[in-house]
Amino acid sequence: MSDDYTHGDNLADPWGDAIMNNCPFCDFGSTYEYEQNDHFQYGAGEDAVMLCARVVVIACSRCSEKYTDWRGEDAREAAVNKYLDEKKGTT
Ligand SMILES: [Zn+2]
Repeated sequence: MSDDYTHGDNLADPWGDAIMNNCPFCDFGSTYEYEQNDHFQYGAGEDAVMLCARVVVIACSRCSEKYTDWRGEDAREAAVNKYLDEKKGTT
């Protein structure tokens, strides 16, 4: 088993509340995370394409505010790089 408590799942975790981050929007809610496919546009005009990245969404249990952090940026960047690689490969 792991003694790593950095992931606050709904397990019996005595420090569960302490390790949850407080919501930056309402200051009261604790945040939880889930993964979601994020579709975003890359490029402009005729070259614009819709890409999809698997991002971690951080949501507040109290005010329902949702946001992504650097992991979302990384995922989008990876999706862009993958697209550019594939584009390079087919031309
Ligand atoms: Zn909140």
